[in-house]
Amino acid sequence: MNVVVLGATGSIGLQALDVCDRLGVVPVALASGSGGRGFEETADRYPDAILAVADPADPDRLRDRFGARIVFGAEQVTALAATRDSVVVNGIVGFAGLDATLAALAVGNRLALANKESMVAAGGLVNEVLVQGGGELIPVDSEHSALHQCLEGEDPSGVKRLILTASGGPFRGRSAPELVGVTPEEALAHPTWDMGPRITVDSATLVNKGLEVIEAHFLFGTPFDDIDVVVHPQSVVHSLVEFVDGSFKAHIGMPDMRIPIQYALTHPGRAPLDVDFDLVGSALTFVAPDREAFPALDLAYAAGRAGGVAPAVFNAADEVAVAAFLDGRLGFTDIPAVIARALDEAGRGPADSVDAVRAADSVARQLVGAWTRG
Ligand code: MG
Repeated sequence: MNVVVLGATGSIGLQALDVCDRLGVVPVALASGSGGRGFEETADRYPDAILAVADPADPDRLRDRFGARIVFGAEQVTALAATRDSVVVNGIVGFAGLDATLAALAVGNRLALANKESMVAAGGLVNEVLVQGGGELIPVDSEHSALHQCLEGEDPSGVKRLILTASGGPFRGRSAPELVGVTPEEALAHPTWDMGPRITVDSATLVNKGLEVIEAHFLFGTPFDDIDVVVHPQSVVHSLVEFVDGSFKAHIGMPDMRIPIQYALTHPGRAPLDVDFDLVGSALTFVAPDREAFPALDLAYAAGRAGGVAPAVFNAADEVAVAAFLDGRLGFTDIPAVIARALDEAGRGPADSVDAVRAADSVARQLVGAWTRG
């Protein structure tokens, strides 16, 4: 198996490399955004891997150390995604992962997709390229991996609805007024999952769940009316499918991203993984999300139903708003307000080309950047 890991120094990338190590698979290529934060040590562990760094902080130093096996530039990262006959783990954070998604699928690779922004911003285009390229797309997001596993072997006509579970984040149970003035530190203390900063804040606002609803729509072709969200604080049931005969299938396991990553690599087979989970004594609870305290969820449904560039605008507006929040320039409850305003001002138009999506993304970023400048 030729494995290419994009975003190799991020949370998903490092766990993907751990899975590869355990499977005895040596990655053929690694890509990183800046080449910082542990990149050199990681690259040293795989001396035969080609390396690509999108925007290197210190290219001369990296060139001295790695010589001809390292290349620079975002287009080089995209080129690695197009390595033929590969499994490409796309762990790039944010909209920047879209080009790699399209490049991997265009040549018929298997794409293990952790970059949900690709599917949210350009799901229709990604699906077109998937069909044309004849490859495979296996989601790595825990909820979508769960749904993929529950839907395996099922006829779509038998599916009644998809139910995504949400942990509820650190502010579960708080009312809207109780969310005013919460700090980045509080938002970054996620109770069950250990993830990067943007997705952790997105979990606290339920933006992440909203993005996942849109992602599920494009991955599985399910109408928005048939996708629900329940809050499940234990994060043990990763999602469920309800069928027309009243049966439910749930995917249960430890909250450990190595499970969906490995599934995406070994599908349709499975391989052992050292994860312990004791079902005995674990209570599983499910409650409806508080849509008033966490209005971002319904904003995501609205953006999804509006279609076109609206999901791309939703995503871009959030990405900039979260950065402003983490930087102390925007309040927590202002994040959904800013997204709503961006959707109003820039959320209309068809998403019929990558350029159209990119333009909408960039307009939303400029707007929110201007609104949140300190
Ligand atoms: Mg998820």
